[in-house]
Parts: sequence; structure tokens; C-alpha cells
Amino acid sequence: MPANILIIEDDSASRELVKYLLEASGYTVLTAEDGRAGLRTALEAHPDLVLCDLQMPMMNGYEVVQRLREHPGWHHVPMIAVTAFSMTGDREAALAAGFDDHITKPITPETFIGQIESFLPPVLRGSRPAYR
Ligand code: MN
Repeated sequence: MPANILIIEDDSASRELVKYLLEASGYTVLTAEDGRAGLRTALEAHPDLVLCDLQMPMMNGYEVVQRLREHPGWHHVPMIAVTAFSMTGDREAALAAGFDDHITKPITPETFIGQIESFLPPVLRGSRPAYR
């Protein structure tokens, strides 16, 4: 059964694009529009994977991942930073904060699902009808 995935992203266009791509592949999607709401939703819903912007109001993505990693049961939940920060060192900073990977915006729709699915066990992967 395809995973439940939480998107934490303050930019509505980015959020809707990623949501569309995930739902087209059969995933169940939850969204949050800032870091604080994202942290709350993550703890309540316990998604299988989290996609998280870094630059957001209320709480940035670094703080979201650091706080979640402090919770029992959150050490191994895949968390991927999806961010326009693409300077040297930004990837390392995201990984050091607790993210498993770093994907640069704008995302590439044809490869995005494959990138995030490498962090899901096969049983939680979707069908990917549109891009295969
Ligand atoms: Mn942002």
C-alpha cells in the first residue's frame, strides 16, 4: 500500500506540484504550510516519509528535522529536504541537521518520484503511472 507522505512547504505552487505528482503515483498526501504546523502534523499523523522545505515562516526546516529526530520513533523516518538552497555546503548542512537527502528546487517531475522512492521499502511504493 502506497505510503502516507507529508509535504511541509510554504510556497503553494511548489506544494501543489509535489502533491500532484505524489497523488498521481497513488500516494496519500498530507500538507502543512509552515514549519510549526508541519511539526505538529508530523507528530499527530506519523507519516511514512516527510518532504520539507528549509526556508519557511514560524520554524525553518532545520529546526523541524532536529525536533522530530528527538522523538522516539522518528529516528528512522525518511526526511528529505526539498529546497532552493543549492550553494556549496547547503546539502551538507541539511544532512547534518538530520535529513536523509537534499533535493534542489525547481524539482524535475520526471525523476522526482524515483528520487524519493529510494527511501521507501518496496511495499510502500506507488504505481507511478505518469512517468514510467
Ligand atoms: Mn520556503
